[in-house]
Amino acid sequence: MNVKQKDNEFIAATYARFPLVISAGKGSVLTDENGKEYIDLGTGIAVNTFGVADNEWITAVNEQLNKIQHTSNLYYTKPAADLAEILCHRAGMKKVFFSNSGAEANECAIKTARKYAAEKKGTEYNTIITLINSFHGRTVTTLAATGQEVFHKDFLPLTEGFVYAKANDTEDLRQKVRDNKVAAIMFEPIQGEGGVIPLDKEFVAAIAEMAKELDILTIVDEVQTGNGRTGKLYGYMHYGITPDIVTTAKGLGGGLPIGATLLGEKVQNVLTTGSHGSTFGGNPVCCAGAINMMSRIDDELLSDVRKKSAYIINELSSAKGVKSVTGMGLMLGIETEKDVNEVIENCRKNGVLVIKAKNKVRLLPALNIPWKELQTAVEVLKKACEIGE
Ligand SMILES: *Cc1c(COP(=O)(O)O)cnc(C)c1O
Repeated sequence: MNVKQKDNEFIAATYARFPLVISAGKGSVLTDENGKEYIDLGTGIAVNTFGVADNEWITAVNEQLNKIQHTSNLYYTKPAADLAEILCHRAGMKKVFFSNSGAEANECAIKTARKYAAEKKGTEYNTIITLINSFHGRTVTTLAATGQEVFHKDFLPLTEGFVYAKANDTEDLRQKVRDNKVAAIMFEPIQGEGGVIPLDKEFVAAIAEMAKELDILTIVDEVQTGNGRTGKLYGYMHYGITPDIVTTAKGLGGGLPIGATLLGEKVQNVLTTGSHGSTFGGNPVCCAGAINMMSRIDDELLSDVRKKSAYIINELSSAKGVKSVTGMGLMLGIETEKDVNEVIENCRKNGVLVIKAKNKVRLLPALNIPWKELQTAVEVLKKACEIGE
């Protein structure tokens, strides 16, 4: 059996894969099993922040791998402590809980919010308001948080206590806040899986205002938007707010699984000994990878991300067959006249890998993608969008 046949035979059929076996790569170029090269604008869904097989990251991870790969949380380790300090300082938060994925980072945020509200206002204050068209993960509770019916329907009953408000509709949010005993409002600064849709500045300001007035927590899901992706370190930094809880994962480890829940002043002491935990959480190898990522996501890199973003937006918004370009930084969605799958396939045939979000082409290139590769990829994408060719 070849790889595709074996995968189809033995791996649960949860993924609609592209017909490609990726076997290696360097930077923003991936190689398939036949040696064909592709410029990668997907980075494993915003995970490979500095592309693949990045030398500095490999060195950092290898050094840790040669010391110790895992200890459990029964012991102290330096990489986790160092990374937590970096994250707290750079995000203006007080404490960190480490896990292994975005869903788990959100689970921790939800548990923290419920415990805070129960202790402060009473156990009936357990409702979490999330937004319609959001995506927060695949566990039973983060599915409940996800405001999209299609993900719910086969798995009922889900965790109780989630109410969905319309994104960018302050009146609807106000109504939901009035009608429920609310612990927290949870949102993505840019709805990623929902179609790369940024929230309006006024709406986010209204969330912050309501939250402050009523002692409701704000949870910002930065699983996809975090770690430099939007041209600032975290997406919420575009909005001038200070969240109570920030969750992140995808790009944090540069390709290794790590989730982090950052806890602000109000909730810094909510989680106590025994109230939450994770066997792998804070794994030293993953933390070493993340420290390397964080040390390189500096002002210069972020300014570069914004320049590349402006270039892509400029090229594509005026291109034939393109209806709209949304998003921020290097997290962009392109609505095309042509069927999105056709555009993606055409790109692949011509050596460029892009992914999808709803009806849009989604671009999530490495933050350090070289200009030359970016320009080549944008030309291929523009051609693919043109009607009739
Ligand atoms: C991907 C994603 C998640 C889920 O992360 P996993 O690591 O797949 O569990 C949660 N929230 C957002 C915004 C995401 O983009």
